[in-house]
Amino acid sequence: HLSLVWFRSDLRVNDNTALSVAASRGPVVGVFLGSRTQWRQHGHGPNKISFWLRGAAALGESLAKLNIPLLYRNTEHFDDAPETLLTLARELGAEALHFNREYPLNEWHRDEAVIEYFHRSGLKAHAHRDSVAFSPGELLTGKGDFYSVFTPFSRAWSRMVDASRLEVLDAPARQQTLEISSDPPPAVLGADAPETQASIERRWPAGEEEAANRLARFLEQRARRYAEDRDYPAIQGTSELSPYLSLGMISWRQCMQAVLTINQGHLRDGDAGLTAWVNELIWREFYQHVCWGFPKVCRGRAFQQHTEGLEWRDAPNDLAAWCEGRTGYPIVDAAMRQLTTTGWMHNRLRMVVAMFLSKHLLIDWRHGEAFFMEHLIDGDFAANNGGWQWAASTGTDAAPWFRIFNPTTQSQRFDAEGHFIAEWLPELAELPPRMRHSPSTDLVTDAEYPQPIIEHKTARQRALDAFKSLTRAD
Ligand code: FAD
Repeated sequence: HLSLVWFRSDLRVNDNTALSVAASRGPVVGVFLGSRTQWRQHGHGPNKISFWLRGAAALGESLAKLNIPLLYRNTEHFDDAPETLLTLARELGAEALHFNREYPLNEWHRDEAVIEYFHRSGLKAHAHRDSVAFSPGELLTGKGDFYSVFTPFSRAWSRMVDASRLEVLDAPARQQTLEISSDPPPAVLGADAPETQASIERRWPAGEEEAANRLARFLEQRARRYAEDRDYPAIQGTSELSPYLSLGMISWRQCMQAVLTINQGHLRDGDAGLTAWVNELIWREFYQHVCWGFPKVCRGRAFQQHTEGLEWRDAPNDLAAWCEGRTGYPIVDAAMRQLTTTGWMHNRLRMVVAMFLSKHLLIDWRHGEAFFMEHLIDGDFAANNGGWQWAASTGTDAAPWFRIFNPTTQSQRFDAEGHFIAEWLPELAELPPRMRHSPSTDLVTDAEYPQPIIEHKTARQRALDAFKSLTRAD
């Protein structure tokens, strides 16, 4: 009863539902499909793609310890997956294919095509629920609709989650050696890779061992202060596990179990830091339900239909200034440099820069969403789209359109000493801390640091007018 296990964004051997089920039925061979063209079409840039391939290589090492071979195949497009997998299953004499479900639209369609192709050919294909506690559709409002507001979703989640949904599965036992050898891992970096790329790779080592160590360090050193520290980008107050969660080098269940262990068996009570952190993991699941329940968001559409009528500005120079971190708002520029230098940005700053682009510059949030995807090492369709539509006030549970963050006030509140600004904008590091939030022309010349590309009050009024002129139809 040989099974083929198809790994995608679940690059781990511990607590992997598809792998465990397959291994409980007999010997297993793993397969990973590199789909570079499709990944590029989904907007992923080199940071994420390299992390994906490095993760696949690390997975190959973990699987080798269990005598499970891992094969790599290239399928430029998702459309090639059914044929490639079926051919491989036939070559190996495998009876069944197992994989863990993914919920964005294209991934869903790819998987349905694979299941159908296998069934038509007389082979079994099993899709497992793994990346979420509840399959989309299992948690619905009293009226039977998908939740579009987070708080009632999280209440329902907390009420319904039970021990079986939180159970962490062991890695399968070592199997007997098969007559099939693993493929060499895919090449990741060209010799001419730029230095930033190499430094990003050093900053984010791939694999489940690294992920487990990060979780342990976070829980030991920072988690109990998470509620107080999580909003301050100069403090390392969050877990920095997002790249690992997005490619499944660690599971959300492993995170929750670790919390249960140190929080007297509670997820939603007890230590304030730990419960706040659990809440963020539920946000992660919420957005996966949103993208399945409201597939128009996967087609580039706003969740709130009437906001499609917004007259976004076509302003390529302003967009370029935002991308390159020269808007003249130090907190925005420092954050954008953090993103392009490290492949990651602090959550508070993701909200600040996303609101700045969509409100102050009145530039279509889809440009920002794409730029984030291109650079983020944790780029995740559901979370990224959810975050952008929140900031642009077009989404589920979105920020009310009239509440527009003042970037300078945000900077004064969340980076009061200007430490974060000084770290990313060395040209402002010599200024007294309190002057770093909005440096005046007598402190820095235009050549050293630009003046704001737009004045806050004017920009705010322009955004309010644009939103006011919309007529609600939905
Ligand atoms: P922690 O604070 O330690 O949180 C733990 C985990 O919970 C995270 O690793 C993540 O998996 C999940 N999580 C936390 N906040 C959110 C949230 N708001 N929505 C969904 N999941 C969450 N997160 C991504 O993983 N990928 C993205 O592409 C992404 N794009 C975003 C874009 C915008 C505009 C905004 C506002 C947020 C985005 N987020 C995204 C959510 C959030 O900013 C990151 O998950 C978080 O900053 C990652 O850091 P961390 O691992 O230290 O998080």
